[in-house]
Amino acid sequence: MPTNTEYLSIKQVVDHGYCVGCGLCVAKSANAEMIETNVGTYIPDLNSFTSPELIAAEGVCPFSINSDKENAIAERLFGDSQEFLDGLGYYHKAYVGYANEGQFRQQGSSAGLVNWLCAELLRTKKVEAILHVKQSSSASEGMYSYQISESLEALQAGAKSKYYPIHLGQLAKLLANTQANKIAVVGVPCFIKGLRSLAAVDEVIADRFAYFIGIVCGHLKSKHFAEFLGWQAGIHPDQLELLDFRTKLKNRPASRYGFTAIPKGGSEDTWVVKAMTDVKGGNWGHGAFKLKACEYCDDVMAETADVAFGDAWLPGYTNDSKGTNVVASRSVELTNLLEKAVSEGRIVLEEVASSLVLDSQRSGLNHRREGLRYRLARNQQNGIPSPAKRIKPGLASVPQDRRTIYELRETIRETSHRAFLLAKEQNDLSIAMKMLDGVTSIHDSHIASKNKVSTIRKIKHRIGSVVRSFKSSKVEKLY
Ligand SMILES: Cc1cc2nc3c(=O)[nH]c(=O)nc-3n(C[C@H](O)[C@H](O)[C@H](O)COP(=O)(O)OP(=O)(O)OC[C@H]3O[C@@H](n4cnc5c(N)ncnc54)[C@H](O)[C@@H]3O)c2cc1C
Ligand code: SF4
Ligand code: SF4
Repeated sequence: MPTNTEYLSIKQVVDHGYCVGCGLCVAKSANAEMIETNVGTYIPDLNSFTSPELIAAEGVCPFSINSDKENAIAERLFGDSQEFLDGLGYYHKAYVGYANEGQFRQQGSSAGLVNWLCAELLRTKKVEAILHVKQSSSASEGMYSYQISESLEALQAGAKSKYYPIHLGQLAKLLANTQANKIAVVGVPCFIKGLRSLAAVDEVIADRFAYFIGIVCGHLKSKHFAEFLGWQAGIHPDQLELLDFRTKLKNRPASRYGFTAIPKGGSEDTWVVKAMTDVKGGNWGHGAFKLKACEYCDDVMAETADVAFGDAWLPGYTNDSKGTNVVASRSVELTNLLEKAVSEGRIVLEEVASSLVLDSQRSGLNHRREGLRYRLARNQQNGIPSPAKRIKPGLASVPQDRRTIYELRETIRETSHRAFLLAKEQNDLSIAMKMLDGVTSIHDSHIASKNKVSTIRKIKHRIGSVVRSFKSSKVEKLY
């Protein structure tokens, strides 16, 4: 039996901020809808469900205890014949490499292997469509949304990572609008997990979704992240058309990428390119504008996907500004497809130890292993329900200075959401810049400090003043 700190209904998932906004609870309902929160994320409109629909949705929600955990799903799919490595999950082969034909690498976030694989599945007629994330055609859907691509041109128009909330609440409509019988879907780990759960109870999904392609995930950002970056590039949120989150900067390491902010109606000479290192919020480790749900996620490597791709954040690879992928294949069929393309020179892959793929995601894994252990234990102590995770709560194994780092990152997340609302309300970007700078500088000085005990004391004092500045503001509740 689940304990009361594990059981979460859909309502509790939403009320406690554990909803990642995937929309899969809505996907099967006749009338339910996703709505936008005040911090620029999606949640389901709980009033739009019938009671039986809400209960059925628990079976697909990636944060509900009634859906299977990643290990159970992955074991069913891959457990018979494959190796298992904690953090990576089951795997058949692990590689580092890049796309060597067409424009996939130049136009990709990393080295273009995700869209290359999607293209190969289309070209070889293994699928007739790709479900992935592209620029929206209507502003009401936000900058980016899940869409179906049925041609190579349509596919490539959707290259690159979107650090932007998207949902699959409109899945039934998307499927109704395509003749494609076989589809490959691209998604972050929680979306793939939710889709696997949906496929387990829905024959149409099981039949039509032929391949599940995972992208390694550190965390997802709110819509305000894009607006914050755009504003720092001189484009007011009201004037921002689009933000390309992954612009490769020549002669810089791949990890030092930039972004491109595109104003409404502007010609290409009005586009602004900036390095992520030159703006606030650009440091991934700070976790600004992160969704709270991502603090309670333990799948970095898309463990239920047939194949997962990430960035090779590894010495020896990051220096190449063109980008390099890490790959974990869990499908013998896809391994064969990849290796055939290697023999034809169309992609380049070097088989590596599976542990190297994990090494490329070390800091994300620490945050979602040791950090999650701490967050779960803290919730347990405070009587706050948490989603059921594979990681067990535990305070003893987390040193005080690490706990402080995890607390500070949560403060940065919360500050970023609140500060941006204030900045927008008062039409003054400097409010968000100052508030965010206040907390990130405390985080950075704690990391740099040799005497962690003394900085912890100072931090408590300085965080107090940031929290007091929220209380004096009009922004009281984050959805
Ligand atoms: C939210 C997010 C967080 C990430 N965090 C990490 C990380 O911590 N470490 C790491 O190594 N890599 C991370 N990645 C993955 C990385 O950015 C690249 O997506 C990956 O390396 C594949 O690069 P590529 O050049 O092969 O992809 P491309 O060839 O550029 O193709 C990308 C494909 O992914 C689809 N896509 C883009 N954004 C989304 C989305 N949000 N949801 C579903 N599909 C999408 C596109 O439509 C396209 O089909 C993250 C990606 C996202 C979206
Ligand atoms: S299924 Fe997705 S959208 Fe629905 S409550 Fe769960 S996380 Fe949120
Ligand atoms: S960190 Fe986890 S919960 Fe958040 S978007 Fe990525 S896979 Fe989903």
